[in-house]
Amino acid sequence: MPAFHIWTLGCQMNVADSLKLAAGLERLGWHQAPTEHAADLYVVNTCAVRQHAEDRAYGRLHELRRRRERGERFQLAVMGCMVGPRTDDLQRRFPQVDAWARPQQFEPIIALAGSARDASEGEFWTDTFATPTGPTAYVPVVHGCDKFCTYCIVPLRRGRERSRPVADVLREVQHLADHGVREVTLLGQTVEAYGHDLDEHADLATLFEGIERTGGIARTRFLTSYPKDMTDRIIDAVADLPKVCEHFNIPVQSGNDAVLTRMRRGYTVAEYEERVDRIRMRMPDVALATDVIVGSPGETDAEFAHTLALLERLEFDVIHVAAYSPRPGTYAYREQPDDVPHDVKRARLHAVEAVHAASAERRNRRLLTRTTAVLVEREQDGRASGRTRGGQLVHFDGAGLIGQLVDVTVDQVTAWSLQGRRAGDLTLAVV
Ligand code: SF4
Repeated sequence: MPAFHIWTLGCQMNVADSLKLAAGLERLGWHQAPTEHAADLYVVNTCAVRQHAEDRAYGRLHELRRRRERGERFQLAVMGCMVGPRTDDLQRRFPQVDAWARPQQFEPIIALAGSARDASEGEFWTDTFATPTGPTAYVPVVHGCDKFCTYCIVPLRRGRERSRPVADVLREVQHLADHGVREVTLLGQTVEAYGHDLDEHADLATLFEGIERTGGIARTRFLTSYPKDMTDRIIDAVADLPKVCEHFNIPVQSGNDAVLTRMRRGYTVAEYEERVDRIRMRMPDVALATDVIVGSPGETDAEFAHTLALLERLEFDVIHVAAYSPRPGTYAYREQPDDVPHDVKRARLHAVEAVHAASAERRNRRLLTRTTAVLVEREQDGRASGRTRGGQLVHFDGAGLIGQLVDVTVDQVTAWSLQGRRAGDLTLAVV
């Protein structure tokens, strides 16, 4: 039986794409190679969101070329966000690649694997579900993005927003539940955009409601939020439906209106704060994460100071921060010079990281002595780990608990994780 290996970079959507392709190949009689050196087909699933991710993909492709030159025999395919309508340059650089596939357009790889299937056989993919690898799973519900933020390559590579029909999503969730999954994360570049393009009257809350009725699933999460698409109905559904976790990841990107305008984010700082206020009014214990870009074109010290002030004011549980990295093909790359010096970007990055460390630790301290349900995802050497409804990582003594919801009393916290003990267990030491 031929074997494949998929090497994946990037976001949860890329991970989901790799699992979907793996399920398709398995359906065609292939199997996962026990090691990457045993693969007859090697797939590199790329990310183009930052230069660093592209550099890692280039490094891997150079290494694979050298392995080919040393006589190793395998077919090579490249997929993901580095593959777009104008990637001739990339294809000239790596002529040894046998197939190129744009995100979610797996057909060139399926053809390389020896199948005559093509895009017209859509039902093949509709009924091909990723094999779960644990008690949690990602479920893409809306592909692409219509927002066209000036710095972002995603809409150019993943195309316009396309929602999956409600029945397709719920069938996949049921399949995952039947295979031991307890928690699903619904994915979209802007996940609240789900349903805008469907004939059926549906939104993200419709999916939440359907999953409430799906036996076996205990928790629903969703990623990534976009403030302008986040309706009161969706916020209310998160607050009211027992399975939906009170956990939002809402990128703000900047705390200054002029920067947000240059980024074409489509909202003001006040509008962003209004959504956060609404969420916290409905769910006082909600966990909030955000994304921030520092050193975007033209960002002044004063503009950056507004970002720091906003982050301190809103006190997030998690702040993902990245230094601006110009992406060829974007509006910003063409029209907005990358004029913030590297050392200034680094200093701003560290400043945001410091705010994050302080606010995350403060937020986690609220959980000290509380008992909270943890869905166990991993175990090693008698230690179990999993996440709270708010997404905080918790470690405690335990074994044989993977996939179970366990009540854990938190007795130590850092900015990054919590330690605890099973509720009801005796503790011998006061921490
Ligand atoms: S909302 Fe903006 S940053 Fe997010 S994927 Fe769409 S274009 Fe990119």
